Amino acid sequence: MIMIDGRADLLSMNMTELGEFLAGLGVEKYRAKQIFGWMVRGVGFDGMTNLSKSLRERLAEAAVINLPTIEKRLVSKLDGTVKYLFGLYDGNLIESVFMRYKHGNTLCVSSEVGCPMGCRFCASTLGGLVRRLLPSELLGQVITAERDTGERISNIVMMGIGEPLDNYDNTIKFLRLVSDPDGLDIGSRHISLSTCGLVDKIDELAKLELQITLSISLHAADDETRSSIMPINKKWNISSLLDACRRYFDATGRRISFEYTLISNKNDSPAYAKRLASTLKRGLCRNSRPFPIHVNLIPVNEVAETKFKRSDPESVKRFCEVLANEGINATIRRKLGSDINASCGQLRRSSLAAENAADDTVDD
Ligand code: SAH
Repeated sequence: MIMIDGRADLLSMNMTELGEFLAGLGVEKYRAKQIFGWMVRGVGFDGMTNLSKSLRERLAEAAVINLPTIEKRLVSKLDGTVKYLFGLYDGNLIESVFMRYKHGNTLCVSSEVGCPMGCRFCASTLGGLVRRLLPSELLGQVITAERDTGERISNIVMMGIGEPLDNYDNTIKFLRLVSDPDGLDIGSRHISLSTCGLVDKIDELAKLELQITLSISLHAADDETRSSIMPINKKWNISSLLDACRRYFDATGRRISFEYTLISNKNDSPAYAKRLASTLKRGLCRNSRPFPIHVNLIPVNEVAETKFKRSDPESVKRFCEVLANEGINATIRRKLGSDINASCGQLRRSSLAAENAADDTVDD
């Protein structure tokens, strides 16, 4: 059982664990469903009106509902995207982004405080990993954003701060909790999980045969370039990663997405697009036919601490055309919330910097 300041973390429990915990308090197991239903709507013990007052008091003594606080909320004037800076029970900060699409509202959730993976272009990893998020903290982002916007979230992308497969067990628990029909009921087909390429965990995930969309942060078509921007490539190179993708497809039948960040003068030339096409075709061929994939092209977001420059729109368009001519299904990602710096990692970073500056002032 996960404990927070001496009390049980109720929101991290699945229905069986919740039932057992309640039994330990002398409460009937059927109450688990009721309590879970309240918690996912963001209702505290006080508001659980179908429970007796004494039960509510006993619960509040023995357990906590670990939801984040909203430290900052930035709303885009352009498209209504909302970016949250959430505070956790121990004072750590994470980010989530609420986006409105035609197919429904999507929340981009963080999986860790910071990130251990060290991708050179990414703001989330600059200070390394602080800690992994609890299942309650993964779920809490969705609950709190739904509550704050008053709108249902129908899709989730695990593309915020952190590497979800580095927080494997809690991520899997979250995926199961969030799709529970008695709870938020967001089915696996509406969830995407993005990874920089932890091959052993991709294989573990494949065995679960979930219907989530796996999204691979590829960003380069050859090992030399990829290793220079993504340290994980030194452990699992492109061909071992694409092999794992093929095994994932064989197990789940799900189309795989590839994220490709376009960096000026690094990986964005037409020749490089051809190279990407041939790497993908070679690596993903199955019974001599490539299986279905999709490439998302994203001009890199410039991060103050890194030297990478974004590709100009002409190069991005050309890159996309070359892929299309090579028979690769690719689109340029539409950028939401560009006026609020909606890409993850940067708001937490700037808050930490502001805090440090404030600390420095005190020290002086
Ligand atoms: N760790 C996971 C989840 C993070 S998802 C992963 O690597 O997939 C965030 C996505 O944004 C990843 O594809 C990541 O590579 C990409 N990304 C990070 N920094 C970026 C930047 N400055 N510009 C564009 N994309 C970036």
